[in-house]
Amino acid sequence: MRKFTYLVPKTLDEAISLHEARGERAKYIAGGTDVLVKIKEGKLAPDYLISLKHILSQDRPFLNNETGELYVGAFMTHRSIEKSPLVQLHYPILHDAVKNIGSVQIRNVATIGGNLVNAVPSADGAIPLIALDGKAHIYSAKGERTMELLRFFLGPGQCDLGRGEILTEVVIPPQRPRTGSAYMKHGRREAMELPMLGVGVLLSLEEDLNTCAQARICLGVAAPTPFRALMAEKFLVGKAINAENLAEAGRIAGDESRVRDSIRGVAWYRREMVGVLVKRMGLKALERAENKAEGGRLTV
Ligand SMILES: Cc1cc2nc3c(=O)[nH]c(=O)nc-3n(C[C@H](O)[C@H](O)[C@H](O)COP(=O)(O)OP(=O)(O)OC[C@H]3O[C@@H](n4cnc5c(N)ncnc54)[C@H](O)[C@@H]3O)c2cc1C
Repeated sequence: MRKFTYLVPKTLDEAISLHEARGERAKYIAGGTDVLVKIKEGKLAPDYLISLKHILSQDRPFLNNETGELYVGAFMTHRSIEKSPLVQLHYPILHDAVKNIGSVQIRNVATIGGNLVNAVPSADGAIPLIALDGKAHIYSAKGERTMELLRFFLGPGQCDLGRGEILTEVVIPPQRPRTGSAYMKHGRREAMELPMLGVGVLLSLEEDLNTCAQARICLGVAAPTPFRALMAEKFLVGKAINAENLAEAGRIAGDESRVRDSIRGVAWYRREMVGVLVKRMGLKALERAENKAEGGRLTV
């Protein structure tokens, strides 16, 4: 492996000025599970790696009790998110996704921010956070800016970060009452494999616990970037949530997707599986919404 200098800033501002001074010769590193692989493969050759892991921040997702927003820090590891009782109980779609990333060893070091910034279409962390309507907070020498996480992804391996900018957190607004959500990645193996497809469904129900008040259907590896199947979502709103309507929503989502043949699966199979998994995750989200008033203005 090529030699590089490892720098350990303690604050965001320090990290940014270290980066500014070194320009293209520098690269941020968080858990390193993507960066170090790329360096080993010769795809990256930075002279300086600037660690983001020692910047003081919370190590677990936390709720702002005044606004009801959930803060998921970019430097949090998948394992710390997976272990969070708050996430397990109230944001199961996020728990479904992070608990199957890589292996425990990978999840102990890999961060959610690194997963998002790496911006591969198969990033498991992106789908639940988009389905939860997450907002990306981005910090630079000019200050902070915020954007919808959905818009953060520009193409395979490309996200909306300027040189030296740091993704600091994803903020999730309070969920409506009677909301349920679920995510599943589909692949040949459950662990240590990037998904052939990732499907997340979030449903909010009317007071009758059957009519759909809001639907978010978010797909990974079904287009060059994670995306929401807006036509399928529109189809569901105002309808009864049942197997038949979810199957039709899945069919529409399959038509909306821009799947392609790849080493992990062929396009027609992926499209079929969008339909199957939208229905399956929809039923799971329904069950979760019925069983528990998930989200809303929580206080912990
Ligand atoms: C064996 C193995 C299995 C894996 N399995 C999965 C899987 O199942 N699902 C999945 O989605 N991924 C998987 N991955 C990919 C990887 O683990 C994740 O993408 C991980 O979350 C990356 O986080 P990291 O902290 O290691 O990022 P790093 O490698 O440290 O950084 C990744 C990129 O993001 C930049 N960066 C990191 N944090 C920030 C920030 N806060 N602001 C600005 N830039 C930043 C870095 O400069 C770099 O470009 C796997 C990887 C391996 C090696």
